[in-house]
Amino acid sequence: MAIEGLAERLAAVRARIERAAERARRDPARILLLAVTKIFPAEAIQQAYDLGLREFGENYVQEFEGKAPLVGGLPGARFHLIGHLQSNKAGKAAELFQVVQTVDSAKLARRLHDAGRAIDVMLEVKLSQEETKSGVEPGGVPALIASVRGCANLRLRGLMTMPPWSEDPEAPRGCFRSLRELAETHGLAELSMGMSNDLETAIEEGSTCVRVGTALFGRRKKG
Ligand SMILES: *Cc1c(COP(=O)(O)O)cnc(C)c1O
Repeated sequence: MAIEGLAERLAAVRARIERAAERARRDPARILLLAVTKIFPAEAIQQAYDLGLREFGENYVQEFEGKAPLVGGLPGARFHLIGHLQSNKAGKAAELFQVVQTVDSAKLARRLHDAGRAIDVMLEVKLSQEETKSGVEPGGVPALIASVRGCANLRLRGLMTMPPWSEDPEAPRGCFRSLRELAETHGLAELSMGMSNDLETAIEEGSTCVRVGTALFGRRKKG
């Protein structure tokens, strides 16, 4: 199954990133385009890889376990877990992913460490009041940073957030700004924020990693 028009959509997304970076007087080379391939088959990852993409985001450990034999070994490719991770799946996640962006508890950090592989991690921060969102509350961030820094196998890169979905790309600006301020307070360099609909806002607020699914691969069928 080939994704129709992927090359054109990739060019359009890259142009959006460059324009936003220019407006914000930022170097576009410092903004990682993470291709979010949840629900799409391994062939979509391969196709994106062939177009030059190297960083991929997946939401579910089990789903990616099925694709990993086909794409896990692509030279230079890195896979980020961007969905909520239960600590009982931490060992499997550490095997499959080079980056876990959704660390939100000391217990999970410890389980990832115990898997015995060096991985990059980010803390998922909950910056909205929405009940269903996972992530650590901002007040819990200092303690969680200390826990992660106590785990020798984990390299803490930065913070990630997922604001409630809104059609209005301006709506998450406050969340993005709060995430940046929190990262600055703790001397963390990487900010994973912004998706298909609001990546410009996120880049203006300092994002170093935009997670883009729909704008590259089209609408996801309900999984
Ligand atoms: C699905 C998903 C994305 C991509 O969203 P799009 O709107 O399709 O670009 C980004 N981040 C997370 C955490 C996701 O679950």
